Amino acid sequence: MNIGFIGLGNMGLPMARNLVAAGYRVVGFDIAVDAPDGVEPGSDAIETATGRDVVITMLPDGDSLRQVAAAIIPEMEPGAVLMDCSTVDVVSARAVAADCESAALRPLDAPVSGGTAGADSGTLTFMVGGSAEAYERALPLFEVMGRKSVYCGRSGSGQSAKICNNMIFGVTMIATCESFVLADRLGLDRQKLFDVVSTSSGHSWSMNTYCPAPGVGPVSPADNGYRPGFSAELMLKDLRLSQQAAEDCDVDTALGRHATDIYAQFVEQEDGLGKDCSAILPRLESRHRGAKSR
Ligand code: NAD
Repeated sequence: MNIGFIGLGNMGLPMARNLVAAGYRVVGFDIAVDAPDGVEPGSDAIETATGRDVVITMLPDGDSLRQVAAAIIPEMEPGAVLMDCSTVDVVSARAVAADCESAALRPLDAPVSGGTAGADSGTLTFMVGGSAEAYERALPLFEVMGRKSVYCGRSGSGQSAKICNNMIFGVTMIATCESFVLADRLGLDRQKLFDVVSTSSGHSWSMNTYCPAPGVGPVSPADNGYRPGFSAELMLKDLRLSQQAAEDCDVDTALGRHATDIYAQFVEQEDGLGKDCSAILPRLESRHRGAKSR
């Protein structure tokens, strides 16, 4: 398979490198980053996409996806796969998919979970929307770049799964941080709280795998001064996408909305920018009941 890769940032660059290491020919392009060794540099998005069997995009948001897609779709070969691995709003994912189908291309929305560590080590999880046939065709690539892929259904389903997952993650991360601060003030040892909760009904990925308390549970960004990991601003981005979708579908997501407000305040009005999403714990340590999160 002959692959074009557009968007060689923190995630895209190691994903492209892993495809090269697996023996694929990859042509890559980014407006700000040079192609790494082994990836042939494309001069622009159009050259990178023209004549490829599969074009992968890993871009910041729905607007950049729409812009790149509008440029490359008319140049791609009929039957080629356009696989967007960025996290974008469901409406943009479906609009790009519709444009692809009009041009006889096969679109996939395939956002990832696993962060930069997963991108580096080829252990991402892909959640994939589009036709089952396009998914089967792209499966060998998911197997190189990731450890798991889940076919979720029609176009937009991958992005839908991603924002539902991350809405749960945002809410459980805040709840886990709140429980540590409550335990502190009750005089309960943090390790004891972890030992109980991680094997009881309060367990979650936030507690068990990504514990926000330094020195407790498996190694996580909390043990590294809250350097991301999964940054608070990316959490805010995904929570906002979940709230945009909830509004579009008229769903009451009170906890998702509240988690969005808390991360917005943390990132945009306090000192959360550049910190891991689990840094909500030290934020709460210095707060008291009645402090307003908008
Ligand atoms: P990033 O900002 O490091 O990379 C995006 C790249 O796209 C940049 O290098 C930028 O120059 C490039 N770009 C922007 N517009 C372009 C255009 N028109 N043409 C070509 N290149 C263009 O971001 P990232 O951390 O790699 O994340 C990429 C996507 O993956 C985002 O949608 C993000 O939400 C999602 N994601 C990130 C993580 C993470 O931990 N970083 C985890 C899961 C999902």
